[in-house]
Amino acid sequence: MGTEKSKKLFEEAKKLLPGGVSSPVRAIKPYPFYTKSANGSKITDIDGNVYIDYVMGYGPLLLGHNHPAIKEAVTNQLSDGWLYGTPSELEVSLAKEIIKLYASIDMVRFVSTGTEATMGALRAARGFTGKDKFIKIEGGFHGAHEAALVKAGSGATTLGTPDSAGVPRDFTKNTLQVPYNDIEAMTEAIEAYKDDVAAVIIEPVLGNIGPILPEKDYLKEVRAVTKENDVVLIFDEVITGFRLAMGGAQEYYGIIPDMTTLGKILGGGFHIGVIGGNREIMEMISPAGPVYQAGTFNGSPVSMTAGLAMINTMKKENVHEKINKTGETLRKALSDVVCDLGLKYSISGVGSMFKVFFGDRPHNYSEALKCDIGKFNIFFKKMFNDGIFLPPSQFETNFLSLAHSKEDIDRTIDAYQRNLK
Ligand SMILES: *Cc1c(COP(=O)(O)O)cnc(C)c1O
Repeated sequence: MGTEKSKKLFEEAKKLLPGGVSSPVRAIKPYPFYTKSANGSKITDIDGNVYIDYVMGYGPLLLGHNHPAIKEAVTNQLSDGWLYGTPSELEVSLAKEIIKLYASIDMVRFVSTGTEATMGALRAARGFTGKDKFIKIEGGFHGAHEAALVKAGSGATTLGTPDSAGVPRDFTKNTLQVPYNDIEAMTEAIEAYKDDVAAVIIEPVLGNIGPILPEKDYLKEVRAVTKENDVVLIFDEVITGFRLAMGGAQEYYGIIPDMTTLGKILGGGFHIGVIGGNREIMEMISPAGPVYQAGTFNGSPVSMTAGLAMINTMKKENVHEKINKTGETLRKALSDVVCDLGLKYSISGVGSMFKVFFGDRPHNYSEALKCDIGKFNIFFKKMFNDGIFLPPSQFETNFLSLAHSKEDIDRTIDAYQRNLK
């Protein structure tokens, strides 16, 4: 399999883009492949190689690449213009759909990315409570903004820089960290800073260092301790929203937070972010209230259209029933493979998310770090040479889409068997 064109392009890109890429996790060693086109479950590089894709744009492409329903809706919208700088009916329609699906959401503010969504949600929670500190989970990723860039998930961890340079200590001194699946640690942190903690922000399933699943009752206990102490509970569902169920992890696990952030899947591959929450908190956001939030591309007609088409298509296709079942089949098959080979590896996942950890099944960030990353990197390369594109990090979740066929899955299981061996 030749990748000469990609190799050459990367030589040029290194001089023009820091690290040769536009976002760090894409910097596959020794050089990434350059995509020419993508369709369904497959991605094609500029040398003409075709890969089965389990990256799926790092989560958004629940329906697969180039889905006709999304393409048609967006193409139709383009003929009416693509940026208005005024409200449009589309944002009202999409808000209604989201509010119907998410019990925690009475109102929304549309933004362009998940990063902006969590930044805005934290600001709203701080404005609402008048408190400065917030608690995040070690290894939890909430986008690349200052206050959240502490022990922040896969990209930073893979590159060995869990904290970013250029972030003044003053910006993170109000960011507290606790391990995932440890309700005692969270309770202690809340009680120790009782008068100062505005919010807990948590990925209900740790998707950026795994997936790592919540243990039985953990999320319920997080809900209880935050409620008792008047701390705003923010579920960052930028990955799990519309992934585990239409109503996200909060529907899947039956826990209702105070605020929710969404992104990725909702836009079907177009840029989107959502700050959602109960009316009292949301009415803090400007111009209703004093918490400032604004954006040229907020409520973009193109993204709103894509969002409406996504929700429509997900319902029509009964997506979650189908891909969650595929996920279960695949995880079971991979467990058998690992067991037959006598490897001390573990399979983690839920719904359409899966991962083989090169070590014991982790329950938190520090356990995940014990995996054999050297072996994972060799394995990644072998899978790639077999035409299977996995996320290039032990800590990045593999995503299934509606487009992955039985044939794709069978080929994938065979490749795992061969390359794990
Ligand atoms: C991807 C992600 C974000 C950031 O979203 P962007 O659109 O990349 O800014 C925030 N939170 C979680 C849980 C994510 O996975």
